[in-house]
Parts: sequence; structure tokens; C-alpha cells
Amino acid sequence: MRGRYGDDGLNRFIMVTMYILIFLSLFFRDNTLLYWVILVGFMVHNFRFFSRNISQRRKENNFFLKVVRPLRSRWVVLKKNINDRNHKVFICPQCNGKVRIPKGHGKVAITCPYCRHEFTKRS
Ligand SMILES: [Zn+2]
Repeated sequence: MRGRYGDDGLNRFIMVTMYILIFLSLFFRDNTLLYWVILVGFMVHNFRFFSRNISQRRKENNFFLKVVRPLRSRWVVLKKNINDRNHKVFICPQCNGKVRIPKGHGKVAITCPYCRHEFTKRS
């Protein structure tokens, strides 16, 4: 493994996606396109895993993380809103900072503590 790139966030994402597709292929047995997608996915994963061009693999991973980060942040906020009965978390539309306010006060004007941007939401 010396000099090889190894694992990263993008490779883990590819692997999890491939396992989901393998599971789905149990229900769509005659779908050759699905098998090809799985095969190409594993080839891409292995190519990236054993690649010696580390800087290019890092660039790909950074681009992937940049695309996924806002989605992951929204997922975290959704989970917090489901678990916390007394507070509601909003994402500031200007700086993407998380703002937590008490629930049940109707429509409120929220001032972001990070950038001072003001927005209105239902608590
Ligand atoms: Zn803000």
C-alpha cells in the first residue's frame, strides 16, 4: 500500500452506493444496466484506492466534500429538529450558520448570531 492513495470520503460513498445497488439488484434480477453500474462503480473505487496520483484523488475528494457538505448540514439540522422537542434549528440563508430558537412562539424574526443577518421563520 506504500505510495497508494487508499480510502477517503468519496470512496466510502462509492462503496456504500454499490452495496445499496447490490441489494436492489436482488429485486431487479434481469437488469443488466444495474450490473454494469455496479461493476463500473467497483472499478472506479479500486482505481481510486490503488492510484498513485494522490494529488488528483485529493482534488476529486475535496470537490465531492464541497458538494456534499451543505446536504450533510441540512441532514444534521433535520435530525436535531426531530429529536429536540423544545427547540427548532434553522440555517442562516446568508452564512449557513445554525441558529437554535425555542419552539412554539409563532412567526419570529431571527437574527443570526454569526453574521447579523435577519430572517423570519415559524418557530
Ligand atoms: Zn448568518
